[in-house]
Parts: sequence; structure tokens; C-alpha cells
Amino acid sequence: MVKEEFGFGMLFAGVLTFSLLLLILFLFFKMLDTVYLSWFKRPAWVHFYLYKNKLSESQKAILRKNSNFYNRLSSAGKSRFEHRLQCFLSDKEFISRQDFVLSDKHRLLVGATAVMLTFGMRKYILPILEKIIIYPKEFYSTIGERYHKGEFNPKLKALVLSWEDFEEGFNIEDDNLNLGIHEFTHAIHLNSINRSDTASTVFSDGFSELLRLMRNEDLVADIKNSGFIRDYAFTNEFEFLAVVVENFIESPSEFKRQFPSLYKKIQQMFNFRFAGY
Ligand SMILES: [Zn+2]
Repeated sequence: MVKEEFGFGMLFAGVLTFSLLLLILFLFFKMLDTVYLSWFKRPAWVHFYLYKNKLSESQKAILRKNSNFYNRLSSAGKSRFEHRLQCFLSDKEFISRQDFVLSDKHRLLVGATAVMLTFGMRKYILPILEKIIIYPKEFYSTIGERYHKGEFNPKLKALVLSWEDFEEGFNIEDDNLNLGIHEFTHAIHLNSINRSDTASTVFSDGFSELLRLMRNEDLVADIKNSGFIRDYAFTNEFEFLAVVVENFIESPSEFKRQFPSLYKKIQQMFNFRFAGY
């Protein structure tokens, strides 16, 4: 009887010690992560998966045929991309409008745009976004009371796209016009506000630094005079970010050459080297 009680006591003490050790280890790594983030302005690690989801062969074939970003990744990068895309797609509800017939290709290419943009971030699901609504063409928006090609509505947690314009932006990769990149940048930006996870902190701190940089009137004048970034960027700070990210993804080398300080801030926010990977 005494022996049994002693055994239980030992077991309890062992479990308690082990739990405490785990907690200390967890707090230690969390502290290291925070220190690393504040020193280097980027996460100590981005990808870590105990189990990786996979796409079907037909889904991978769609990516191979359509996504240059996916094709340029290493085989390890491809498997991370596939895992993230699978998780992203299963988290979002896709809705079609005006008899648009949704297929796997539509879902994959829209999701691939989000996963590409967030590939340098630890968190990529974007809880602010629940629904992706696709129209065949431009649609009448009650928000702006005019026809839109796309919009992100944080109240409805919905990203709305005209497929015709999304596809054009997706296929033409060097004209600095990309509807998917533009709207997902709005979603990532709004998702980062008031969140304290690593990805959101890197993004929102970088955005604050970007706004400070843009107080330099000479730089703003140079950007406006260059014609490199379209005028719509100067509508407000949200549109500025969404437009410059289109340039950042589609003309990275030119962007880096013309406006290195601005380029560096965007690269810091997304934690990814799109120019040269
Ligand atoms: Zn916009």
C-alpha cells in the first residue's frame, strides 16, 4: 500500500518536473523569438510543419501550368507551398456570382496568389478573410456605387474579384497591374492591424517605417515624377501599399534600382526576396 502511494507520488513529481521543463523551454524559445524579431526585424523561422498536406496530381498540374512562382521554387519550397495552399483553401469559402462556374483552377490560382504573398510569413491563413466571391467580369459595387474589378470588404470578411481581371493580372506578369496581388495586399494589411503574432508585427512595424519614409517629400516627388508607380497609389496610404506591392512583385529589379529604400521596406514587411528568390 505504502509502496503504491510512493510510486504515484514519484510519477506525479516526474510529470510535474517534465511539464515545468517544457514550459521553461517554451518561454525560453518565445523570448529568443522576440529578441530575434526586434534585432533583425524578421522572424527567426517561417516554416515548420509536423505534417504536410498534399495537393492532388491534377491540382499540381494546374500550378505547374499557370504559376511561375511555384515553378521557380525548390522541391522543398514546392511542398511547403502545396501544404499552405491546401490549408488556405480549406479555410475559405468560395462563392460564385452571376452564373460563374467555379472550378479547381479558379480556387487554386486565387489561393496561390495569397500563399505567394505570405510565403515569407509565419502565419498565412488571414483570419480577417472568410469568403472569396468571384464574378465573371466587373461587378456593380454598392460600396463605391460604381463598377469594380475587385474589393476587400473587412466587415463582410470577403474578398470580391472579377475573374476576367484577376486572370489578366495573373497572366501578364510584368505590367505592374495585378488585381489579385492588390486585393490580397489589402487583406494582409488589414489583417495585421491590432494583431500581435510575429507576421502581423513584422508587417505593421514595416508599414509604420514605410509611412515615416514617405514623409520625405523629395522621395515622394521622385516617385510621382518617375511614372513607375501609377497615380492611384496616391489615393491614400492603403492604396499606396497595395499599388506598390503590385510593382514589387511584377518589376522587382526595376523597383530595387529606382527606389531601394522603399523596396527594402516592402521586402521587410513580406520577409521575402521576390527578386531572385
Ligand atoms: Zn485598393
